[in-house]
Amino acid sequence: MDAGYPHAVAAVVSGVVGLAAGSFAGVVADRVEREESVVRPASHCTACQAPLRARDNIPVVSYVLLGGRCHACGVRIPPRDLVIELVTVAVFVLIGWRLPSVWALPSYLVVATGLVALGAIDLEHHRLPTPVIYATALVATPLLVLASGMTDRWSSLAVAFIGAAACFAAFFAVFLAVPKGMGFGDVRLAALCGGWLGWLGAGVIPVGILAAFVLAGLPAIALLAAGRATRKTRLAFGPFLAAGTVVGICFGRAMLSSWPHL
Ligand SMILES: [Zn+2]
Repeated sequence: MDAGYPHAVAAVVSGVVGLAAGSFAGVVADRVEREESVVRPASHCTACQAPLRARDNIPVVSYVLLGGRCHACGVRIPPRDLVIELVTVAVFVLIGWRLPSVWALPSYLVVATGLVALGAIDLEHHRLPTPVIYATALVATPLLVLASGMTDRWSSLAVAFIGAAACFAAFFAVFLAVPKGMGFGDVRLAALCGGWLGWLGAGVIPVGILAAFVLAGLPAIALLAAGRATRKTRLAFGPFLAAGTVVGICFGRAMLSSWPHL
């Protein structure tokens, strides 16, 4: 798309931004469930309420320096936030490295932050809060419109909207057919995924969605094989939809072009 942009530089810069974004995703995942503001109050220990000092708030570094414990009460800080930060950094580096347009990078990194937060919330609480999906779309859509304008790819924007509508319709049909199979949050999330997959090309949409189902199938098969689940065990689909979308965004175009044309 934009010729000659330095993917290595974009990957490094994205990774650094990912540290802050991952920290924010962790705060969103933590507070949305308790219906607290994501801006106020300042971060605090959930056990003793002691506010975090500035040096306790550095992503990843603070966790290691504190030995994974609160500075005031010594209670073990769940490694969940650390995992969310590391996953966000990894996803940001991948997208910075692979995205074909540097203009679209801000929009895709906003979507990635939303996907990480939503995946974490769904994994833990089996729901996909609507405000998080809407907020992600609300910030990322104008950025995608801007990228389409700067690269003169209005047709990509059209495919993005069609992709969002098509994925919404397809998942809504599944939701109606098998109401217990997925929640309506999955339908909304599918629209978000379809839009940002679609901007990269119509063919990238099925790659991302298919990747989601493959990724979701693997742990399901493993749990069934280990006798730790029955066919009725409900697996959250959101994390796999998010992961499949990242796979589609980063590798969808390469997969499509390496596919043997018979
Ligand atoms: Zn504490």
